[in-house]
Amino acid sequence: MSGVRGVAILGSTGSIGRSTLDVIARHPDRYRVSSLGAWRSWETIVEQAQRFRPDAVILADPAAAAKAREALRACGLAARVESGVDALAAAVAEPGVDMVMAAIVGAAGLMSTLAAVRAGKRVLLANKESLVMSGRLLMDEVHAAGAVLIPIDSEHNAIFQCMPASYLPGEAARGVTNVILTASGGPFRTTDAALLAHVSPQQACAHPKWSMGRKISVDSATLMNKGLEIIEATWLFGLPESRVDVVVHPQSVVHSLVQYADGSVLAQLGAPDMRTPIAQALAWPDRIASGVQSLDLTAVARMDFEAPDHGRFPSLGLARAAARAGGTAAALLNAANEVAVQAFLDGRLNFTGIAAVIDEVLQRLESCAVTALGDVLDADAAARRLAAVVIEPARGASA
Ligand code: NAD
Ligand code: MG
Repeated sequence: MSGVRGVAILGSTGSIGRSTLDVIARHPDRYRVSSLGAWRSWETIVEQAQRFRPDAVILADPAAAAKAREALRACGLAARVESGVDALAAAVAEPGVDMVMAAIVGAAGLMSTLAAVRAGKRVLLANKESLVMSGRLLMDEVHAAGAVLIPIDSEHNAIFQCMPASYLPGEAARGVTNVILTASGGPFRTTDAALLAHVSPQQACAHPKWSMGRKISVDSATLMNKGLEIIEATWLFGLPESRVDVVVHPQSVVHSLVQYADGSVLAQLGAPDMRTPIAQALAWPDRIASGVQSLDLTAVARMDFEAPDHGRFPSLGLARAAARAGGTAAALLNAANEVAVQAFLDGRLNFTGIAAVIDEVLQRLESCAVTALGDVLDADAAARRLAAVVIEPARGASA
């Protein structure tokens, strides 16, 4: 790559979005921000626009977009301000955009991620939910459009870094037998099963190693994050679920590993800071500074590895079953999870209720074959409706 590359950052006000801006700010000779997109945090996006001078600012929420427009005009900035999902999708396809950071949380990121892929951009994929939902469809679009999909999720980025030179996600790599995802175990790794029903959203969001948005923090606490990552890995690395292993590694220093046919196991190590995978994906195949300090191995001192506890964390098994079922099962799982996590954060469902709701939705809704995007969107909508119904009577039980 030569010249300054334009980067569209969707989800710019979130944890990944802010880390991306932090890396970009260190390399004005390499990157410029072409557009910033988010939901409704207009004050934050206006501050970001003042600093990074994008061509466009997009807020999904029209009222927030109106406020941002007024504020940007008042400070004399020429950035276009737009609103709505279609505007997010249009912004990523613009000619001045070379790379798209897809860092909207949840299914809300699906259409803009797909648009970036269809436009043949380099897509830096943080929004794992879009790949979990649309799996084969999204990967087919990657191949058809000649897009380059680079995982930002630290585990998948680690695996990408351990793959043979010239490997690009989307197919099985020669000689690779298995990939091993590491999991920190989350804040409840050692919590007694009997106490899990009573943990609060605040406790669930207090991750021991990573600082992240609230939805992924809860997913890390239930281990559904690892479940979604198993499904994500099957699509990115062309492997069946049975060849995607999970090991709990509380220090979060080894970010994941790749096993080869000759017995070699390659791992990527680093501090638990998302600026490393972000910088790797922005600069690939080059390497640039990310602001993250190198690892001090003597300070790390020891690394532990243990098997995950499927009894206390049933989400892992639910995700594996959805991966095996194929079709719309993963979209059903993802949607039920999003609704259940929101209910937990709102105090309408207890922690162990999250997996119970997903289980019930998966038992009551049949997985169908996916032939078009509509199948995925229909499954998503049906699972959301049913999850809401399942949660409603659970309210009393969780009080
Ligand atoms: P976050 O909650 O901190 O930020 C979410 C961003 O998405 C915000 O900018 C928000 O405005 C935007 N957003 C939410 N709903 C939207 C909508 N309807 N339309 C447009 N924008 C919307 O989340 P995060 O922790 O930055 O995570 C973002 C994504 O990256 C998630 O898919 C998550 O799983 C993934 N991820 C995050 C981390 C991490 O360390 N934070 C690590 C790996 C993967
Ligand atoms: Mg991860």
